[in-house]
Amino acid sequence: MAKKKVATRLEREHLSKVASLGCLVCQRPANVHHIRPIGLGMGMRSGHYQTIPLCRDHHQGQFSIHNCKKEFEAMYGTEHEMLQKTLKEIENIEEANNFFNYNKGENND
Ligand SMILES: [Zn+2]
Ligand SMILES: [Zn+2]
Repeated sequence: MAKKKVATRLEREHLSKVASLGCLVCQRPANVHHIRPIGLGMGMRSGHYQTIPLCRDHHQGQFSIHNCKKEFEAMYGTEHEMLQKTLKEIENIEEANNFFNYNKGENND
């Protein structure tokens, strides 16, 4: 039962949901940024669930979470705050999706 680094199907689905939210700062098309892992116990199973969407500039640009982390967090909130926001938004989308799936009689996972 070696831990795989490769994302599972569910993880990939989650990652694409995260990216589809758009940049947390400017709403432009985003990539996912893996935040520094924090203690689990928040219902998250792996690092792939500790990701936030950021556009290229806010991810790795001159003023980005990678290049100016302190200033970036002071301005927009900490990685962990952004993670909470991300998960909340996905939860909301998921609730809406579940509603439709129930109506279709589908039961995934
Ligand atoms: Zn951005
Ligand atoms: Zn990153």
